[in-house]
Amino acid sequence: MNNTDKIYNLAVAGVQQLIPYKAGKPIEELERELGLTQVIKLASNENPLGPGKKALTAIQAALPLLALYPDGSGFTLKQALAEKYAVDVSQITLGNGSNEILELVARAFLTPEHEVVFSQHAFAVYPIVTQAVGATAVVVPALNYGHDLDAMLQAVNAKTRLVFIANPNNPTGTLLSQASLERFINALPDTCVCVLDEAYFEFVSSVESINSIDWLKKFPNLLITRTFSKAYGLAGLRMGYGLSSPEMADILNRVRQPFNNNTLALVAAEAALGDDEHLQQTITINALGMQQLTNGFKNLGLEWIPSAGNFVSVDLKQAGQPIYEALLRKGVIVRPIGNYELPHHLRISIGTAAENQLFLQALTETLADV
Ligand SMILES: *Cc1c(COP(=O)(O)O)cnc(C)c1O
Repeated sequence: MNNTDKIYNLAVAGVQQLIPYKAGKPIEELERELGLTQVIKLASNENPLGPGKKALTAIQAALPLLALYPDGSGFTLKQALAEKYAVDVSQITLGNGSNEILELVARAFLTPEHEVVFSQHAFAVYPIVTQAVGATAVVVPALNYGHDLDAMLQAVNAKTRLVFIANPNNPTGTLLSQASLERFINALPDTCVCVLDEAYFEFVSSVESINSIDWLKKFPNLLITRTFSKAYGLAGLRMGYGLSSPEMADILNRVRQPFNNNTLALVAAEAALGDDEHLQQTITINALGMQQLTNGFKNLGLEWIPSAGNFVSVDLKQAGQPIYEALLRKGVIVRPIGNYELPHHLRISIGTAAENQLFLQALTETLADV
């Protein structure tokens, strides 16, 4: 054993086995590598319109405050969220992205004695936060690419301390009905925390009524997570939040870093929350882009997984990785999802009409070459 191996053996057991999260390739990186200049990225479910004007104005105004620590309680943002969603401020936890909330709940509730249930093809952060604290992941096979709630319930036992559900799920875009979800949470033992990850909530709530917040009254073990990274176009600022019982929020607050949200993120998120016009534009362009992409897939004879999010996974009926690499050479970054056990699919984030067109053109050329 050499000296570099030795340090790995010092890490806690879960971390020794951990495979780090693989992010979408940054535009600058591809431009550097291939000497390209007109790269488009449809790889991380970001908002193609960018941040809204109100958020940008708020960020400008807050720049002179940057020598000061942020408001560690996130007072005014929590007030705005409480008002918008008719919850008490004591029910809100702010996170450095909703990813941080996922990590807080794992750290606060899991030990190596515990099991965590989530679905095959579910969001890649669930296994990471589970393994990092040495808990055991129990991955339940998917049903039609989505969560099999009955099978997940079967997998829950006395050792299960946490269940993760993404609705809609990333990267499949599958959506569970509110009725089936409520039945599921109701059937969970009260010794099990249920995390309902609604990162794409805003795209769904415009077409379907989502009433998960009503359930907080009934289920003190429920934690809903949402984010400003997707529909609100603020992924670079890292701002997400949890909604739960006050007791659950109190527990998460104990392990939270005192200044986990920076000043710009706090003011931008608050402003974004009041920018309905930008949100509506985002939802509209997403619906149109989804139609544009799926029409394109149809013309190419490809099938896709119907998606409720701002992305769609297309079945290439061949290995996705080489197609992904060929698209990179044409300056188009999408997401291979072999690490989600979907090696024949690529996940495409919905872009502007022009970006979607460029992608479809590049895909058409690529498929004609292979
Ligand atoms: C993007 C995403 C998140 C959140 O990301 P943050 O930027 O950390 O808020 C959470 N869950 C799912 C399923 C996602 O796709």
